[in-house]
Parts: sequence; structure tokens; C-alpha cells
Amino acid sequence: MILYQLKCKDLGFDSCDFIATGNSETELKRKFIFHSMCFHEKELNEMELVQKIEFDNNLNQLLDKQTNYFF
Ligand SMILES: [Zn+2]
Repeated sequence: MILYQLKCKDLGFDSCDFIATGNSETELKRKFIFHSMCFHEKELNEMELVQKIEFDNNLNQLLDKQTNYFF
């Protein structure tokens, strides 16, 4: 059963249709980070430190929302 879902678009990669799914927040985050390193390495490398922090905050916020939504 898939409980968690995270769209790449939600994190600002508008041209990407990837949706990460997982049974736990940890699994979801791991899959998403793996995806972003494989497919968005260029974008991530071009990000300023501030943008990277914002990206990470957004990711954590989206994961928090998932937890609130399901429990
Ligand atoms: Zn993507």
C-alpha cells in the first residue's frame, strides 16, 4: 500500500512528471533525493546555497503535510 506521494513539480521542477511514492516518509525522501540527484543534478548544482536551503525546507514541509494528511 502506498501511503506517501511527492511530485517533482511541487518542488519547482515544472517540466518533470516524476512522482515519488513510498511507505514511509524516510523511504519517500530517499527516493526523491535519489531522483533529484539523477535527473536534476544540473539544476541542483546551479542553485545558490539559499535556494538549496529553501528546497530542503520545501521538501520537509511537503513531507510534514503528508504525515498530517494521513494520520
Ligand atoms: Zn524530477
